[in-house]
Amino acid sequence: CGIFAYLNYQVPRTRKEIFETLVKGLQRLEYRGYDSAGVAVDGPNKTTQDLNNNSICLIKKKGKVKALDEEIYQKDTVDLDETLSTHFGLAHTRWATHGEPSALNSHPHRSDKNNEFVVIHNGIITNYKELKKYLINKGYEFESETDTEVIPKLIKYLYDNRENDSITFSKLVERVIQQLEGAFALVFKSRHYPGEAVSTRRGSPLLIGVRSEHEPPAEHIAVQYNSGHLREEVEEKNSHNSSNSNGEGKAVEYYFASDASAIIEHTNKVLYMEDDDIAVVKEGALSIHRLNRQAGDDPVRAIQTLQ
Ligand code: GLU
Repeated sequence: CGIFAYLNYQVPRTRKEIFETLVKGLQRLEYRGYDSAGVAVDGPNKTTQDLNNNSICLIKKKGKVKALDEEIYQKDTVDLDETLSTHFGLAHTRWATHGEPSALNSHPHRSDKNNEFVVIHNGIITNYKELKKYLINKGYEFESETDTEVIPKLIKYLYDNRENDSITFSKLVERVIQQLEGAFALVFKSRHYPGEAVSTRRGSPLLIGVRSEHEPPAEHIAVQYNSGHLREEVEEKNSHNSSNSNGEGKAVEYYFASDASAIIEHTNKVLYMEDDDIAVVKEGALSIHRLNRQAGDDPVRAIQTLQ
């Protein structure tokens, strides 16, 4: 029932600080109600011996956010003191709609045992039964009773069947939401796309907070539409942005949340996502495009200042 995700780009944070930010974000959303909670951060995971680069570690717990917080510190799954200059972490509180409250049914959900893709979801996928049947027929194994789990399985299926290796994370997410019916706010993380964040929504709320020392943060933002000629302009802007190759002025943090109460303590610069928007943070730059842009849609997505 609550989404919170945090991306630090060229802003050094220890894993402990990242956990603190994620847990605090969930605490701000507790008033919405929930039955379990979970987080995903970059591994390596000491307990499963998954010591590969870019491995993702999931920690999930039935009950209060406080119980999750204790689990993070008691289990000693990951190195808390390691400093990560760029990192993307996910956090979620669940209000079960499909499948009982349990650690296994709580989010983040994953594509497979290697956690290639992980996702947090608010809402309900109404056509999950058909999708699940299809994916099971293709050999994908499910571990939970949730509607949500079809999403990480579907993105892995699309990734496994990609036409070439240059396929972008956002393209995969675009293909996923073309198959989904129902309501959703989604945030994705993948070991195939380290340091990259993709989020999208339809029906359920999602907003993005931007914190950057170097004003205006709006320069990090590019809005593009699938069929519009705005894309060229965007690419020009982005390349201009990253041409500052000494790294100065690129430090930026992004917060994804289901409501502003979890963001306001970090920044008052926010951008509300609209239905079928797909937002991507790649190399510290945020760009947004909308699936199937309708005539009359506002081509400019502005950052608002919360009062
Ligand atoms: N339908 C999903 C589930 O039952 C998400 C529920 C939520 O929004 O927390 O896991």
